[in-house]
Amino acid sequence: MQATQALIHLDNLSYNLAAIRKKIGKGCAICLPIKADAYGHGSVPIAQAALKAGVSHFAIATVQEGEALRKAGISAPLLLFSIPLPEELDSLARYDLQAFVTDSSFATELSKAAKKQGAMLTVHLKIDTGMGRIGCRVEDAAALAQGIEGLKNLKIAGCASHLSVSDSQDTDDLAYTERQLSAFHKAIGSIRKCGIQSGLLHIANSGGILLHKASHLDMVRPGILSYGYYPSEETRNLIQLKPVMELRTRVVFIKNIRKGESVSYGRIWTADRDTKIGTLPIGYADGLPRLLSNNLSVSIAGKFYPLVGRICMDQCMVDLGPHSDVQRFESVSIFGGPASGADELAQKLETISYEILCGINKRVPRVYTK
Ligand SMILES: *Cc1c(COP(=O)(O)O)cnc(C)c1O
Repeated sequence: MQATQALIHLDNLSYNLAAIRKKIGKGCAICLPIKADAYGHGSVPIAQAALKAGVSHFAIATVQEGEALRKAGISAPLLLFSIPLPEELDSLARYDLQAFVTDSSFATELSKAAKKQGAMLTVHLKIDTGMGRIGCRVEDAAALAQGIEGLKNLKIAGCASHLSVSDSQDTDDLAYTERQLSAFHKAIGSIRKCGIQSGLLHIANSGGILLHKASHLDMVRPGILSYGYYPSEETRNLIQLKPVMELRTRVVFIKNIRKGESVSYGRIWTADRDTKIGTLPIGYADGLPRLLSNNLSVSIAGKFYPLVGRICMDQCMVDLGPHSDVQRFESVSIFGGPASGADELAQKLETISYEILCGINKRVPRVYTK
């Protein structure tokens, strides 16, 4: 097995799901987002482990992601969060994916595709209460529901919306989320008034779970929390979580360099003393962002050492110090585990842990441990 690996701690996934379960109580279902290959963790093994931990539904972003899960034997409901193209609807129906329906023309086309397969497709009516991404307007929800009810091959299993600032405790943001919740209830009320059952109601992402109890409803959709990170700095530590992914590599070469000698492209780092430099076989092509050059410490046997010089495509260098006893082929933790969290890397880059996790490239093997 190659040196650079993403160790996936499935026991930590179960730990995080138990923490979420404790927060939401018994009666609420969990839909685990496993889009983007389960935030980079590998959708099939994550789904299998999550089923054992009491997750009943999953969510994906593309029809192809759904197809892969079905082919791997995952039979649980798969909610499709993004809008597919017309030419993808046959596959959507064949693999029994549960679309977020946003408008009547999509509903009509979807029903036709379902009919072709001789299938009855379960859908979720998606209402835009303020995210501004996909969904029908609140005042159009009842008409859309009636339209879907009129189609022979579709049935409504739930109604959904999405929160845009649920991870913020800023006064305006808290109020905005409350307004989104009441808009959602208004839409649901209008649907029920037409005598249509609204099914499972779900709106909460990780932020909603932590900060808005009223958003939990019938089902929650905790993505980042399940993978061991918080949706924002201000929600950090509101529940205890453990990172599921640990990015590791090994020291493959150690050399002595003299004071004044430079390391890597662009010569952005020069030794200010004689020292030992270790080379790590990981670079930006693996998902270690080049912008972290000269700006990250990695952990070797419990001690931290700074990366020095530009991160290359496939390699980077670490300053082990003049008196280091680090051995060639020793294990290095880049993030997760004993090293910094993916959220600390994200903070340096003014981005979010989500992007770091999803960015770990395919060529990095995922190694699953209990
Ligand atoms: C990705 C996504 C989620 C999960 O968001 P987190 O912040 O990771 O909890 C929930 N709902 C929808 C519609 C999403 O697209």
